[in-house]
Amino acid sequence: MPEDKRYSRQSLIPGWDQTTLDSSTVILVGVGAIGSYVATILASSGIGKLVIIEFDTIELSNLNRQLLFRDEDLGKPKAEVASKRLKEINPKIEIEFYHKKMEEVNVSVYEGADVIIGCLDTFIGRRWISSMALRVKKPLILGGMFAFLGDVQVIIPYKTACFECQPLVSDEELAQACTPFGEERKKEREEEEEEAKLPAVATLSSIIGGMMAQESLKLILELGAPLENYMFYDGLNNATTIIPLARTEDCPACGELYKLEQIEFIAHPTETIKDLLFRLALTYGLEKPDLMVEGKLLNSESIVENQLKEKSIAYILDKNLAKPIKIVIKIEKL
Ligand SMILES: [Zn+2]
Repeated sequence: MPEDKRYSRQSLIPGWDQTTLDSSTVILVGVGAIGSYVATILASSGIGKLVIIEFDTIELSNLNRQLLFRDEDLGKPKAEVASKRLKEINPKIEIEFYHKKMEEVNVSVYEGADVIIGCLDTFIGRRWISSMALRVKKPLILGGMFAFLGDVQVIIPYKTACFECQPLVSDEELAQACTPFGEERKKEREEEEEEAKLPAVATLSSIIGGMMAQESLKLILELGAPLENYMFYDGLNNATTIIPLARTEDCPACGELYKLEQIEFIAHPTETIKDLLFRLALTYGLEKPDLMVEGKLLNSESIVENQLKEKSIAYILDKNLAKPIKIVIKIEKL
């Protein structure tokens, strides 16, 4: 059969099972530089279904490394153009795309994945997709780059360290996440992000994207050993450092301790819910959290003792969290 011929060379690899690959779904969040390489490799390798989630549009400064895009595509949605090009590369695979923010894509889409791949350049974005991977219990591969430096992380929910267990982020970014934003600051940040021009070169996109695609193929085909579980790559010095991150028992996202005993959070009886939310935002690095008790959102102007009791179970909701954090309220004795 002619189709067999398309995959005949990779099928020579011991353990390679094209039928398994053909019935697998990968969700790719972010089809910029790294994502372009991941998508191209998975499409040409014959992944059954590729779901692309990307909100951005194509700019001239993308073209030095985002190999799926051309001059004629400027201003068009990346998700749509990428899907078209990938179909040309391999018409046999199924492609679904969402020109949307990942937070707006229905959870059922994520549930359909065999592997989720996140090519996201912000701490907040990585944190959100990690939280979603835990929620739907799907393996997640994260990757990023900065000039000739790159990193890849493989997260197997509840087996290996999640993004919250040991967040490897700069102090600057941590500090940012720990400051709840007002509307003005949010606007300013959005403008900053639009302005932010990170150095990026195609060689790194292809190396990191290649490694991410390879890790996803290994997971799907159960070949070799998955990356354990964070790799840092320095292209200028050809140095690869692998750091086996450990899960932390008290991780608020995946920790056993949290699952068994839940997190206690101290509330003062006379403070407002707003004050409590402010402390929750600082503790968990959230933007604008809400607190839900017995299915109802609490009014931020109300007083703690009128809304919460000792051992009340509350859920923290926030756009930075795909999965609510469950806490047990401990009322401070006056
Ligand atoms: Zn964790």
